[in-house]
Amino acid sequence: MNDCIFCKIIAGEIPCKKVYEDDDLFAFHDINPMAPVHFMVVPKQHIASLAETDASHAPVLGKLFAKLGELAKSQGLPDGFRTIINTGRVGRQEVYHLHVHIVGGPDQLGHMLPRNK
Ligand code: AMP
Ligand code: ZN
Repeated sequence: MNDCIFCKIIAGEIPCKKVYEDDDLFAFHDINPMAPVHFMVVPKQHIASLAETDASHAPVLGKLFAKLGELAKSQGLPDGFRTIINTGRVGRQEVYHLHVHIVGGPDQLGHMLPRNK
């Protein structure tokens, strides 16, 4: 946990482009955006991944998901967005602090569609 890059961002020890902060949540732009708008929303509490959650995390996860639409609109995504959560090795998670990617922007999501669409 001490070595967690997102915990350090939340603590202000590593700079970021902040989108939002409250008592439980923190949101910031991805350093390597895959679309015109790409930010991440994380719980301030260190939860390694979606595979590590249990019922005790339900309040903060509920709060996080209930905030996504408002944050997306605040970042200029009124027509929708893609929500991505990578989990574990198979999910190709790189940073082990649970985060939800919000990705959007006009006509920028075609390359991310599943192959059969
Ligand atoms: P993943 O764990 O696969 O969902 O991906 C982690 C994401 O964190 C990647 O999209 C990175 O570009 C992003 N990232 C890594 N370090 C930073 C940082 N210091 N500031 C902002 N985004 C970061
Ligand atoms: Zn962390």
